[in-house]
Amino acid sequence: MQRVFSGIQPSGELHIGNYLGAVRNWVALQSEYECIFCVVDLHAITQPYDPRELAPRTFEMAAGLLAAGLDPERCTLFVQSHVPEHTELAWALSVVAPLGDLERMTQFKDKAAREETVPAALLNYPVLQAADILLYLAEKVPVGEDQLQHLELAREIARRWNARFGTALFPEPQPVLSKARRIVGLDGNAKMSKSLGNTIGVLESPEAIWEKLRPAMTDPARKTRRDPGTPEICNIYALHQYFSTPAQVEHVAQMCRTAGWGCLDCKRLLADNMIAALAPLRERAADLKAHPERVRGVLGRGAAHCRRIAGATMARVRDLMGLAARDA
Ligand code: SF4
Repeated sequence: MQRVFSGIQPSGELHIGNYLGAVRNWVALQSEYECIFCVVDLHAITQPYDPRELAPRTFEMAAGLLAAGLDPERCTLFVQSHVPEHTELAWALSVVAPLGDLERMTQFKDKAAREETVPAALLNYPVLQAADILLYLAEKVPVGEDQLQHLELAREIARRWNARFGTALFPEPQPVLSKARRIVGLDGNAKMSKSLGNTIGVLESPEAIWEKLRPAMTDPARKTRRDPGTPEICNIYALHQYFSTPAQVEHVAQMCRTAGWGCLDCKRLLADNMIAALAPLRERAADLKAHPERVRGVLGRGAAHCRRIAGATMARVRDLMGLAARDA
């Protein structure tokens, strides 16, 4: 069975953007592949953050992933910093990682442009990402379009490292593209992201979901209820495609184009369907909240399993690189 690796930042709340764009796909992959999923706290520290919040957010994200359907009987879930070999391999890979390629990464350029002083960790982020994948010799990586550039760099690093040390140790990981389009934020302007405050959390109460959907951006041409709209340019219509039946989606499009209803009616239908679809996740989350030891147990077993695989890979890496044996 081929091995899949993927990671998610510990932003705390799992929102419908990362649920529809990534996690729902992870849940499906569990039955097809040997899956290793990771909450990447070492990636999170490359951006400004509050150390008091990192551990609670990491735990909350792990609980959210389990509530969303990751099944510890069918996949491995762990926290990146609990397996120190990630950073060790990142250093070993950095000896072949081309500086020019790192500087050309779109995410680096975007994030660096917002910083007064650019930390080296931001530049090296894709090397750590390559280490995350290669440590487990993973063949497949579920990614969105925005991560394809980093995955291509991971493949380049694997090729270069194998050539430099005369081995075929690292496979070149292939992308498994998510079918979900990029989920736009409720403000209609950008990717859904907690830091932009334009999200709906998958575990939010029905009231909170409605409070967030009600003022959400729609087709600006619909200034009044009598103005017809273009559903294809409306984020609410895009969300209906994930939460409503095909017949309802068709009805939404027709009512929008003919000004047959107002945007609030359209949002109410979406809210009802979204609340119903997310109800089982909320129930599982409440159960996990009452039993946090279950989440800690899953993460502990996951890290122990990953340390075994990572230890074996690093023994090969140290040997191939000619590092002195530890008992020498
Ligand atoms: S009716 Fe629905 S699809 Fe049309 S603009 Fe309003 S919210 Fe969007």
